[in-house]
Amino acid sequence: MGHAERKHSILSPSGAHRWLYCTPSALLEQQFPDTGSEAAMEGTLAHELAEMKLRNYVNTVDFGKTKFTRAVNKLKKDPLWKDEMLGHTEDYLDYVKNLALSAPSLPTVIIEKRVDLSAWIPSLPDTDPASGTADCILIGNGQLHVIDFKYGKGVEVSAEGNPQLSLYALGAYETYKFLYRIERIHLHIVQPRINNFSSWDCSLEELLEFGKYVQKKAELAIKGEGDFRPGENTCRFCRAKGRCRARADRNVELAFAVGKKPPLITNAEMGEYLEKGADVEKWLSDLKELALKECLAGKDVPGWKAVEGRGTRSWTDQDKAFEVVKDAGIDETMLYVKSPLSLAKVEELMGKKAFAASVGDYVIKSPGKPTLVKTSDKREAITNKVTAKEVFKEETNNE
Ligand code: SF4
Repeated sequence: MGHAERKHSILSPSGAHRWLYCTPSALLEQQFPDTGSEAAMEGTLAHELAEMKLRNYVNTVDFGKTKFTRAVNKLKKDPLWKDEMLGHTEDYLDYVKNLALSAPSLPTVIIEKRVDLSAWIPSLPDTDPASGTADCILIGNGQLHVIDFKYGKGVEVSAEGNPQLSLYALGAYETYKFLYRIERIHLHIVQPRINNFSSWDCSLEELLEFGKYVQKKAELAIKGEGDFRPGENTCRFCRAKGRCRARADRNVELAFAVGKKPPLITNAEMGEYLEKGADVEKWLSDLKELALKECLAGKDVPGWKAVEGRGTRSWTDQDKAFEVVKDAGIDETMLYVKSPLSLAKVEELMGKKAFAASVGDYVIKSPGKPTLVKTSDKREAITNKVTAKEVFKEETNNE
């Protein structure tokens, strides 16, 4: 079955980060269509290519070069195809190859495996049992690896305790425990477009404990019970995010709460507001998007209306227009600007490896603009304060 035709269970592994935390969200979401997006369709296409590359690598007999080339050429006809997909899927293939080849003995490679999750997740009557599809599973030497290819670049995904991958690992363990010895679980996220290669591991006991936690939460979620728990990460991809009252109430409370407090806020309060209010801005923009849709559909949103935005001008026939401009005495060279591709675009064009090998020496990395992030971010904290070590270094250099 192709990636696009796959059915997602109501309590799907990809939505687990949401329904495990905000248990009533799964049923609430069912009232809203799953509209998908161009980015999601692009991701599906890249996944098809990643799967083919892996199959070609692992199984050159059944899926050899001719079959592979024919299948890739078919993918290239898709309007969403971009050549850069070839490089990013190569990174995924390299990652899996490295994992497999660095094991004491070659593990079994299982590609695009649909795993049964019904032991942990109930389903509604007349619906398919809960399941999920793992991009790649490696089993051998007592180790179970679950590798997930992420083509998105908007949100960096961490493998640490990742519920989606942990569910795939539970399903894979249940399927293969009679055939293989499994002691340790490794979760991997390969998100090549933002250079994010994240991995995390835990014991089998910890994974099975997680399974028990899932069972409890899923029992609530399938009945739409439990507490709504709005939050920036939880609500981001929820289909109910524009209409959800719990999210609206929380953000209004955060944005407009006033009280008898000192006129200036402290740094501690600043940190607290930034943490608690992270979703306010996003919520307002989701609300605007929804209100615009309602107005355009002719529905009444008191106090608001849809109008035509500022339009842009464009040529109906640029070639003919430029001919007229040239006839009027403007030199052709004045009409075009020759500008270089950005470094990132050249890298996309050549692929990471070829880029590093050929022009890597000409690349220098200057520090980025200071950015505020949460303390959980892995990057080292910076300040403008000059340290004694730096002063000493400067003085020594000036001597
Ligand atoms: S929008 Fe947020 S709070 Fe509301 S149901 Fe969805 S995840 Fe829960």
